[in-house]
Formats: sequence, structure tokens, C-alpha cells
Amino acid sequence: MDEKFDIQAYMTRGVENIVSNALRATLRDPRESAFMVRFAAASRRASQRRSEAEKAGEHIPPFLIASITSACNLHCAGCYSRCNHATVDAAPVRQLTDEEWLAIFRQSEELGVSFILLAGGEPMLRRGVLEAAGKLPNIIFPIFTNGTYMDVAYFKLFDTCRNLIPVLSIEGGRAETD
Ligand code: SF4
Repeated sequence: MDEKFDIQAYMTRGVENIVSNALRATLRDPRESAFMVRFAAASRRASQRRSEAEKAGEHIPPFLIASITSACNLHCAGCYSRCNHATVDAAPVRQLTDEEWLAIFRQSEELGVSFILLAGGEPMLRRGVLEAAGKLPNIIFPIFTNGTYMDVAYFKLFDTCRNLIPVLSIEGGRAETD
């Protein structure tokens, strides 16, 4: 491996590319563009904070993955999370509360994190955590969901909080998924 490879610079470039591509993709939607312009400015400030921390010997990643629940309503073939017993059918022994997640998201923002992927299990089972995430427009939260809990209330939340972006993966051929 190239010893000069700079993971910090590589990831920061990745964030900048995502933001500039997202800006271009939202040009025809004024509300979305306004949100992305504000987020781009916040993302630059976060990048600055990370690079100052790096100079002081502290590495802050631009991305986090938060597994906010161990519960899921599906049993997909090939689910890595069930394979690792991170997703189970039993009731959770102890889960972080919505308020604890909000505190983690706020601390992440202060440190310079720009993206937090919400995963599970099925993250849309934790409506309170998603509502908490919606309060932090300086962080984008892609939500890795199976989509089965999408309802009118969630559509309204996603419409109001543009930093919450549901990401649905459809696995399999047309016969299984159409
Ligand atoms: S929806 Fe996701 S977490 Fe649930 S079983 Fe399928 S792959 Fe696993």
C-alpha cells in the first residue's frame, strides 16, 4: 500500500464530490437547492474543523454509521446484520434512547462529522431517532431502509427535513422485486 496515501484527504474529497454532485442534481428544485447550498457551506466548515483537529493529532472521520436498532420486520437472504446477530427477533436488551442519539448527533456535528448513515435492523422502526436527526440540518442522514414502514407521516418528515434521505436497496431480479 502507498505509505503516502492520506485517508483524511481522500474522504474529504469524497464528501466534496458528493456535495457538488448533489448540488447539480437539485438545481431544478428551489427548496432542495436552498438546502444543499446551506449544507455545502456547513460541510466546508466541518471539513475545516476536521483538518484543524488532524493537525492537533486527533482524527475525526467525515462519515459515521449508526446502527440505531437491532429489530427488523424482514428476513432477507444474505442479510449481513442477521448473519452477525446484530439484527435479531428478540426484544433488545438495551437500546440508546432518542435523546441519547440526539446527544451523539450533536457531539458529532461539533466534531466536524458531515454524514451519518442510519442503519439497523430497520431504522424506520425508530421514528423518534429520525425526528431527532431531522433537527440537525448541518448533517446529512442517509437512511438505509427496506421501505416497508414508509407512510404519510414519514413523507411529511422527509419533505420538511431535507437532510433525511431514505435509501432503498432492491435486491434480486424483476420476478422477485417488481
Ligand atoms: S431489511 Fe435489512 S436488516 Fe432487515 S433482514 Fe433485510 S437486509 Fe437485514
